[in-house]
Amino acid sequence: MAYPVVAIVGRPNVGKSTIFNRIAGDRISIVEDTPGVTRDRIYTRAEWLTHEFRLIDTGGIEMSDEPFMSEIKQQAEIAMDEADVIIFMVSGREGLTDADEQVAKLLYKTNKPVVLAVNKVDNFEMRNDIFDFYALGLGEPYPISGSHGTGLGDLMDAVVANFPVDDGVPDDDTIRFSFIGRPNVGKSSLVNALLGEDRVIVSDIAGTTRDAVDTKFVTAEGDEFTMVDTAGIRKRGKVYENTEKYSVMRAMRAIDDSNVVLMVLNAEEGIREQDKHVAGYAHEAGRAVIIVVNKWDTLDKDNHTMKEFEDLIRTEFQYLAYAPIIFVSAKTKQRLNNLPALIKRVNENHQRRIQSATLNEVIMDALALNPAPNRSGKRLRVYYATQVSIQPPTFVVFVNDPELMHFSYERFLENQIRKAFDFEGTPVHIIKRART
Ligand code: GDP
Ligand code: GDP
Repeated sequence: MAYPVVAIVGRPNVGKSTIFNRIAGDRISIVEDTPGVTRDRIYTRAEWLTHEFRLIDTGGIEMSDEPFMSEIKQQAEIAMDEADVIIFMVSGREGLTDADEQVAKLLYKTNKPVVLAVNKVDNFEMRNDIFDFYALGLGEPYPISGSHGTGLGDLMDAVVANFPVDDGVPDDDTIRFSFIGRPNVGKSSLVNALLGEDRVIVSDIAGTTRDAVDTKFVTAEGDEFTMVDTAGIRKRGKVYENTEKYSVMRAMRAIDDSNVVLMVLNAEEGIREQDKHVAGYAHEAGRAVIIVVNKWDTLDKDNHTMKEFEDLIRTEFQYLAYAPIIFVSAKTKQRLNNLPALIKRVNENHQRRIQSATLNEVIMDALALNPAPNRSGKRLRVYYATQVSIQPPTFVVFVNDPELMHFSYERFLENQIRKAFDFEGTPVHIIKRART
């Protein structure tokens, strides 16, 4: 489950985000109707040959009000902290600069492998100029061109060759979940409260090559859980850890490594823009989601408070309509005992499989209830449906012409499926396909 992490560092304008996008390819799909998801790409899943890995563009992690050089230094530190392999990028057009040398000096301190990429080598003649970069003392420079996409093969072969053979994090069958949310919503408090008294901590699984720490525990009922990235939640006191982009990147990593994401809101402060950003990513990643409203103890409540808060959440996070909401307090431990069972339940829903025969009964009933509409004189025909995968449950619906299936009809089918089966907490994906 833990994939190697590659981080790109280098001064601004050398082409980091260009290369990031090339390596990521079309892996990043931004769901158009997910509000609050900004388009910045700082973290993505990627593949090279048979290797799957995660890629970070540290240049996208901006520090506000930091002088130029100290920003690059912090980005280099992030790369050294987060990555298994670092791509240090320079520009063959501009040649070696002071800033490059300063970054190189920082990178000497790491024991992580560093691969030196010289970008903007747009033609063959320019390859002669890359030898200057040997002076950085970081080994062989790999000439690449983000504009033309050349040289990426050799560069990525060198990156992959440096992946850890065994990163020491064993795959397991436990339920993997993480707490996600802005600083100060109470994630660490929830972690500590949840790991309190009657839960047996099986182990702190420290990866040998990364400092992410997962915590495994067993409940009194005997259910095994792995809390992902508790290290990211523990504050380590580095300057960049307070920047928003960094915390979003950490959240993306934790979401990626989890089956169930616990999106923590602060009852005291209500809903903020950053909450939506992170929630949008969890939704897009297809994870099961629970919305946890923490600090419930801080509100003066009457009979309507909970309902009003729930309505607010439903309005602000419309795409998370499937996510259950739980109101808790890490301080008083109110309702915290219900959390493990809830996580277990949505995790089961996330991996629920429906037999085709049963599924098609539901689809046929749905068609009878609400016949497929005509569109410009043509009638949609729905033939049958089948579940093709889990986590999240994904259904293919075979039709005469996918163009004829309007979004609202897709929604209707999803709702009928949700009525018939328990998919609380998990997104459900519907893929329409022409029957051939
Ligand atoms: P970053 O600040 O390091 O992320 O750099 P960007 O990816 O934003 O690129 C900075 C500029 O360099 C942009 O105008 C790119 O179009 C340009 N650029 C990126 N790769 C190449 C390349 O291989 N050759 C040339 N000539 N320009 C490039
Ligand atoms: P994190 O940054 O999300 O990990 O948040 P922390 O767990 O560090 O909590 C931030 C602050 O909120 C701390 O001062 C906690 O004591 C406080 N806090 C956390 N949970 C609760 C809660 O349920 N009720 C109250 N009243 N305070 C809380």
